[in-house]
Amino acid sequence: MSTEQKGFVLWFTGLSGAGKTTIADIVEARLRDRGSKIEVLDGDVVRTHLSKGLGFSREDRDTNIARIAFVANLLARNEVPVITAAISPYRETRDAARELIGDDKFIEIHVATSLEACEARDTKGLYAKARSGEIKEFTGISDPYEEPLNPEITIQTEGSTADESADEIFAYLEANGFLTTAGELEGAAA
Ligand code: ADP
Repeated sequence: MSTEQKGFVLWFTGLSGAGKTTIADIVEARLRDRGSKIEVLDGDVVRTHLSKGLGFSREDRDTNIARIAFVANLLARNEVPVITAAISPYRETRDAARELIGDDKFIEIHVATSLEACEARDTKGLYAKARSGEIKEFTGISDPYEEPLNPEITIQTEGSTADESADEIFAYLEANGFLTTAGELEGAAA
């Protein structure tokens, strides 16, 4: 068995308010509890630092996602698990991230909360602003969201809790050899 921890990227994608950050936070905390390394690249946080100044045109969105993919790849190839939680609305751009990081390490997680549910939650008040036209180019309202065609994991948040969604992600990681079934990270105790 390898003495190295495996690098992988949990690439969350979904509408604003779908639950990406909420579920990512739980997965991060649980991985830390197991003694894993973990880095999180949250879309909102990245936009205040690495991608400060970028807007929401297709070009700027693609640049933002390409930067996230670039950093995620640097980490994952050094055996650091990474969580990305950005809308990442364009299929082609997500596929480019997959190609860079490698199919064996790229785990696409579609947080498939419906637009109706996201808009009903409107935790950040953004949908109301998008509907009134105060915010332009808002994903799902006035900008496209291209659903993944073949994601490794699809999460339904309507009718299940964020903890249950995190359970599904851990089941995937264990079933696919990213974690041992004992709950220990592969090689972590070596
Ligand atoms: P995103 O990162 O996708 O924009 P957030 O995680 O910031 O979304 O917000 C999702 C909101 O939906 C939070 O207020 C969260 O409490 C709520 N929510 C309700 N049910 C769920 C669920 N099952 N999973 C995740 N979030 C949920």
